[in-house]
Amino acid sequence: MIPMENLNILATVEDKMPSKFKLVTFGCQMNKYDSEKMNGVLVSRGMVPVESTEDADLILVNTCSIREKAENKVFSFIGRLADLKQNNKNLLIGLGGCMATFNKEDIFRKAPNLDIVFGPDSIQKIPDLISQRLASGRKQIDVGLSDEITWDSPEQFVRENGVTGWVGIMKGCDNHCTYCVVPGTRGREISRPIESVVNEVKDLANRGFKEVYLIGQNVNSYGKGLSPEVTFPDLLRSVEKVEGISRIRFMSSHPKDLTEELIDVMKASRKICPSLHLPLQSGSDEVLERMNRGYKVSEYLSKLDKIREAIEGISISSDLMFGFPGETDEDYQATCDVMEKVRFDSLFLFNYSSRSGTPASEHQGHISRKVSQERFNNALILHKSIIAEKNREMEGRKVVVLCEDTYNGNMKLHSPDGKGFMYGRTRENTMVLFKGERHLIGQEIEINIYGVAGYNLLGNLV
Ligand code: SF4
Repeated sequence: MIPMENLNILATVEDKMPSKFKLVTFGCQMNKYDSEKMNGVLVSRGMVPVESTEDADLILVNTCSIREKAENKVFSFIGRLADLKQNNKNLLIGLGGCMATFNKEDIFRKAPNLDIVFGPDSIQKIPDLISQRLASGRKQIDVGLSDEITWDSPEQFVRENGVTGWVGIMKGCDNHCTYCVVPGTRGREISRPIESVVNEVKDLANRGFKEVYLIGQNVNSYGKGLSPEVTFPDLLRSVEKVEGISRIRFMSSHPKDLTEELIDVMKASRKICPSLHLPLQSGSDEVLERMNRGYKVSEYLSKLDKIREAIEGISISSDLMFGFPGETDEDYQATCDVMEKVRFDSLFLFNYSSRSGTPASEHQGHISRKVSQERFNNALILHKSIIAEKNREMEGRKVVVLCEDTYNGNMKLHSPDGKGFMYGRTRENTMVLFKGERHLIGQEIEINIYGVAGYNLLGNLV
């Protein structure tokens, strides 16, 4: 029997449990996916999401620590919550994601406002951490990484939009890129069984979703450790069979693990979109070797040739990093040469950020921020000019987009009446803005392209 004293504590904790929460997400799609899980965990406990941090009695911040800049942004956001905490003694603040596993207990010293801290494998424990915080008065932390993953059941997710659903197919990473903290913050690579992935995709189809994005740190090595062993192409073939889903995308692909089998499956598929994100990082073999990426530039380019030959019109996006330790002007020029040769359809450009504990942070020849930024800026100018040329080639053409939602960016400059844009993506993943009504959301529609707005295209309904 539970002693009366303990029953009283339990009753008090239950009374004090937060009822309204605000979830703030920083970082990559994996984090957005985790936030959908967090949302589900809290909603299933009767808590209600609110729009503003002012209205919440629980604020959870889902974080990224891949770059120092991303971390600083989070610390400054949490710092700004101090006033809210001052005015509302019941307000609890929690932090999850990679910053939790990267900083561990030290995070409480860096952000004294925090009440609970949890890693990517402890999302289900959030309510318990809150209860323990309330019962004991002590800050709570759970950042353990588990080798035993029970994949969350799809019904638990509160999805962000009703058209594209993100589905995690694996967690962690077994690669050791010398600049990256992910193997430490998300643990070793574990693949999710095919049936579990397919069930989640079916759940999305039942909810009316049209497109799935299969996500993992390195989807091309999916299947290792599963019994019987399967490959990423096997998974794609299974997902293809789910009725109601018309588009399949995936990311990220590691170039060293991209196989001919994958190219064949993409080519044969009616649903896999002709769009591939293949992070290159640098156009210099010396830099790639110091990054421990496991491929040479020529191997990367020859894989791209095969893909482009097999799948006509496929769009290629990539990540490029500038200012990696020891990067010379010649290395930088080699990266620009690859940019001109490949003419990527989309690029994520980054300055190298030194993270403590990574091998690269110990490398000789750190590049000054000024030089790195100059290289970044010049590469961005080059990329923009390539995209502008590519986009101009699209003017006057007809494309098919899957309409996703109303567009909230500032389109006043491009819209005579300053309102009413919707957006959708082509199968090649270009965003197209057009005037339309909300009933188009979730439909594939034809658009005539008449102009360009930054990286996006402008069009009219046919
Ligand atoms: S593949 Fe490399 S960059 Fe990507 S998560 Fe793994 S270690 Fe990090």
